[in-house]
Amino acid sequence: MSLTRADDHIGDVAVDPQDPSDRSDYDISPIGALALAEHFIETWRPLLKLANTLQRRVRARDNHFCQVPGCSRAAVHTHHIIPVSQGGSDDPENLISLCAAHHLCGIHGGRMRVTGTAPDNLVWEFELRRSYVAAA
Ligand SMILES: [Zn+2]
Ligand SMILES: [Zn+2]
Repeated sequence: MSLTRADDHIGDVAVDPQDPSDRSDYDISPIGALALAEHFIETWRPLLKLANTLQRRVRARDNHFCQVPGCSRAAVHTHHIIPVSQGGSDDPENLISLCAAHHLCGIHGGRMRVTGTAPDNLVWEFELRRSYVAAA
């Protein structure tokens, strides 16, 4: 009987292990890898340069001082108001200059919070011991 002959041959695609045309996916030559690395660098270099320029622009905008009200220390950090990990952008409105103490101990230590957009619509909250209901 040959009724099941077709079923028997589903998936039975002839693959010749000696056929070089089946191996192209595995062939990453040294030259190919190098070209890939160069492409990577060329793709990211402008972005890294942009980040540096942006940070300098934000510092200049903030007169190189920590933006916490009443603080007169020099700005040494640039803080993302909305963290990049939460979808915050690298736009100047999302970046403010801070001294190390206010940045690390104040904001990232949970003692204060800054929201809004820089530089004109910042909202500062201090003494965050009270229960705080985040706006959705
Ligand atoms: Zn920060
Ligand atoms: Zn400060």
